[in-house]
Amino acid sequence: MNGDPAGSGAGGPAGSPAGSPAGSPTGSPARSNTGSHSRSPAADRAGYRSRGRAEEESGPVPAPVPILMYHAVAPDPAPATLGLSVTPEAFAAQMDVVAGRGFTPVTTAALAAAWRSGTALPPRPVLVTFDDGYEGVHRYALPVLARRSFPSTVFVTSGWLPGRHTTGGALDTMLSWEQVRELAAAGTEIGGHSHSHPQLDQLDARRLRFEALRCRELIGEELGTAPDSFAYPYGYSSRRVRATVREAGFAQALAVGNALARRRQGPYALERVTVRRSTTTEEFVRLVEGRGVGRNFAADRAMTKGYALARRARGALRGHWI
Ligand SMILES: [Zn+2]
Repeated sequence: MNGDPAGSGAGGPAGSPAGSPAGSPTGSPARSNTGSHSRSPAADRAGYRSRGRAEEESGPVPAPVPILMYHAVAPDPAPATLGLSVTPEAFAAQMDVVAGRGFTPVTTAALAAAWRSGTALPPRPVLVTFDDGYEGVHRYALPVLARRSFPSTVFVTSGWLPGRHTTGGALDTMLSWEQVRELAAAGTEIGGHSHSHPQLDQLDARRLRFEALRCRELIGEELGTAPDSFAYPYGYSSRRVRATVREAGFAQALAVGNALARRRQGPYALERVTVRRSTTTEEFVRLVEGRGVGRNFAADRAMTKGYALARRARGALRGHWI
């Protein structure tokens, strides 16, 4: 899970074409010894910019999309996951709102693919995402989603899941890999959320690469399909983190901004809104409708302001739609 100030997450596409980031200039892990990039940052920036311009000219700006971030779904979660959890009843009521207001859930991979290619999304698209990989997502959320044929994305912290790869450190009961496979078989996209859930921007280059690559590799081994989508633990990223996640083979990644996702954010910094145990149905309606999102999350923003400033100072590589 993500301790506050924000959740994190990114996941992989289940049910979407297995994907390597086609066309990415650095689609495979960099072996360069000059750092995380095998091309100069200046060359990359120029490349992104020219592609961005070409795409912007190709059509109208798509409407912003709410990306809902959940963690545990459980009647009685562990204390460490309580605040960012929801009850099974609240989750069902929230999916009633989604259905009742004519929203169409899509996976992270589907949103990114549409924004990459300029193709249309279904009416009122929304993303339902779960970070960390708690067991209640299978037990309580999946039946609600399956009943409505709603796709979602689950971003798993690969080392938190029980089994031979476990690192320990999980905050609550996690999914088994068998349950992850069942979620994938039911149309859930499985994405990556790092291997051991560190603050990625605090790691040295070697460890950072390991966290992204190991997670992608393990999910690929367990599911037979490597994930395309990633969510940053704690919702933070830096230019270096985004570049490493891209080089590890992820085609898109989700952050936490308590704002709607917009195409201009780029594929490696799509923002999400947090759903919590304290979120009332009225607040949820405002969230999914994109009304008053900033006001609801003023406190979160204050807590993450330091990170936001650090990111801006470094010069944001938000990514590019390729
Ligand atoms: Zn997390």
